[in-house]
Amino acid sequence: MDYIVIVLLGLLIGSFLNVCIYRIPREESISYPPSHCTNCGQMIKPYDLIPVISYMVLKGKCRHCGMKISIRYPIIELFTGIVFLLIYSNYGFSIELLKFTILGCFLIVIGIIDFDTTDVYFKVTMSGILIGVIFLCVYSYYYTYNINSYILGALIGGGFISVIILTTHGMGWGDAEICALIGLYLGWKLTILAMFLSVILGAVVGIVLILTKKKSSKDYIPFGPYIAIGAMISVLWGYKILLWYFNSFYLA
Ligand SMILES: [Zn+2]
Repeated sequence: MDYIVIVLLGLLIGSFLNVCIYRIPREESISYPPSHCTNCGQMIKPYDLIPVISYMVLKGKCRHCGMKISIRYPIIELFTGIVFLLIYSNYGFSIELLKFTILGCFLIVIGIIDFDTTDVYFKVTMSGILIGVIFLCVYSYYYTYNINSYILGALIGGGFISVIILTTHGMGWGDAEICALIGLYLGWKLTILAMFLSVILGAVVGIVLILTKKKSSKDYIPFGPYIAIGAMISVLWGYKILLWYFNSFYLA
C-alpha cells in the first residue's frame, strides 16, 4: 500500500517537474499560468492532467487542437515515480526519504534541462543548495548528526570542478554548482563516488557518440545529465558499491 502511495506521489511530482523542465529555460513562471497546451493555449482540465493515464486516454494529443504531446511527458512522470519508489525501498519512511526525493527532483530538472539546452540555471541549483543547507540545520539541531561530511562534500564537489574549469576550461560553472549541490546532500564519500561514476558514464557515452558519428570530438557534450545519474546511483547503491570496491581491491 505505501509503495503505491509513493509511486503516485512520484507521478504527480513528475508532472510538476515536466512544467519546470519546459518553463525554466523559457524564463517563464513555474506556477502561473496553470497548465495549458503550448500550441493552442487552451487551459488543460484537471481530468486531463492525470499523470501517464491522461496521455494514454488522449492518445498523446491535445483534446482541443489535436497537437501531438511529446512522449517525454509520461516518460518523465513514470521515471520520477520509479526514482521515488527506489529511494523509499532503500531508506524507508525517514528524513533521508524526504531529502533524497527532493534531491532527485532537482537532479531530474537540472539534468534534463542541461541535456536540452546545455545550460544550468543558477536559481535552480541555488534553490537546491538552500534546501540542502536547511536539511543540514535540521540534522545538526534535531538529530545531532555530525554534518562535517556534507560540508566537506560540497567543498570537494564544487572545488574539484572549479579546478578543472580553471585549468582546462572543459566544464562550466553550472557543473561546479551541481557538484556542490550533490556534495551537500550526499556527504563526501558518496560525492566522490558520484563524480567518479559520472566521469566514466560521460566518457563511455561520449566515445559511443563520436564513434557512431552522432557527435564530433569538438562538440560540447553537457556533463549535467551524467552527474545527475551518477548522484542518483550513489544515493541508491553507493554504499554497496563502495563496500564491494574496497572488499575486492584492498582486502583481497
Ligand atoms: Zn492544444
